[in-house]
Amino acid sequence: MKLQRYDAASSSDLKQLRLPLCARLCAVVALIAVTTNLALAQDSSPVISPDPQIAAALRQISVARIQSTIEKLVSFQTRSTLSAQDPASIASGHGIGAAREWIKSEFERYSHDCGGCLEVKLDSFTEAPGSRIPKPTEITNVYAVMKGTDQESAKRIVLVTGHYDSRNSDNLNITDLAPGANDDGSGTAVSLECARVLSQLKFPATVIFLTVAGEEQGLNGGRHFAQTAKAAGWNIEAALNNDIVGGDRSPQQDPSVVRVFSEGVPIAATDAEVRQIRSLGGENDSTSRQLARYIAEVGGTYDASVKPMLIFRLDRYLRGGDHSSFNEQGYAAVRFTEFREDYNHQHQNVRTENGIEFGDLPKFVNFDYVANVARLNAATLASLASAPAPPVKVRLLTTKLENDSTLTWEPSPGGRAASYEVLWRATTSLEWEHARGVGNVVRTTLPTSKDNVIFAVRAVDNQGHRSLAVTPLPER
Ligand SMILES: [Zn+2]
Repeated sequence: MKLQRYDAASSSDLKQLRLPLCARLCAVVALIAVTTNLALAQDSSPVISPDPQIAAALRQISVARIQSTIEKLVSFQTRSTLSAQDPASIASGHGIGAAREWIKSEFERYSHDCGGCLEVKLDSFTEAPGSRIPKPTEITNVYAVMKGTDQESAKRIVLVTGHYDSRNSDNLNITDLAPGANDDGSGTAVSLECARVLSQLKFPATVIFLTVAGEEQGLNGGRHFAQTAKAAGWNIEAALNNDIVGGDRSPQQDPSVVRVFSEGVPIAATDAEVRQIRSLGGENDSTSRQLARYIAEVGGTYDASVKPMLIFRLDRYLRGGDHSSFNEQGYAAVRFTEFREDYNHQHQNVRTENGIEFGDLPKFVNFDYVANVARLNAATLASLASAPAPPVKVRLLTTKLENDSTLTWEPSPGGRAASYEVLWRATTSLEWEHARGVGNVVRTTLPTSKDNVIFAVRAVDNQGHRSLAVTPLPER
């Protein structure tokens, strides 16, 4: 009886054959199997093909290097954005100025090891006084640019960031310990370790390894960097913000997952765009959500020993982070954060009260976990930097009422796409469910109603590297 639900006509035809029940059932099962196989011949689950070079690079990510980076950052005693940055303090290894100089020297060392492949830069500016900045304060972001090897693709940028400033219980305190091992020594270590390992490879697109300051005073460094990038017309395809990825060793922690937060309706969307998003059900298809889905696929392709747990929300309650500054400029950006935060170990003076230890100390950090998160970041950066540019002007034709769906697009800029892939999913599904390779074309028609699913198109190169997916706009 159950089988009749699948295909009543076939089932009743089979009844007329007066075959034994078993034979009829077997025939129906075979029919379903054939139909399914036909579907599978064309469509598959979306998958990012593994690249042996990327897999080998991930094995170079070192727990010991991560640990020594975090311990070094903690050794500056405080990295409050308001703390000392005069030459004497830098020389004595105390305060944010000393941390800044050390990060710069690390990037320079990695660059030396790759024959000068990194351009190490400072982005300095003076922040005017505000509620958490009592006097004009110089804030400096430190970053390394690994320029892409392909002239056209080098204009595309993928970026990883963490904030190297820290704080204790009092955000204006600049003298007491503010170790910031997890918040955000861990994210800074991810950015540095990605730079150390990925600088041994070459990519067509540009990768930027960023560490920012001023996060605890009001996201000042990240905001300045994102605004400067936008003003300069930088094409940042993806910004990966790592903030609190230390995997705090509390018993309730789940070290097998890392949360990946992404905004829904883009904060940078215009009123007209928001109206369109609302009318088409595009609330789950911001570019940041496509980036989050891409990270989920990368997590399935490469064994980072930590799985991305997608959270479809900009950030946690009552909290903010540097990815939002990139979102404000219209860039796709997500935030990585450990599964469970221990608030005794963040933004706290180092102390013991009633037998409870407070403070953001290295002993609470799980360095293996940070290394796993670094692997997931590096795999995502390397996959995107290897991939062709996403197709542009992706459109879904809506000139007339029809049950087929026709998609058109313009080729992936840069000429590196060998073919294209159409993805789709049910409107109630959060991750792509189907993929169909359509060859090196700029138009395709699928026998699936656009009213019932969400489509996207992505570019594929001749080695199987996939671009970010682009959802279509309707075109009449
Ligand atoms: Zn933080």
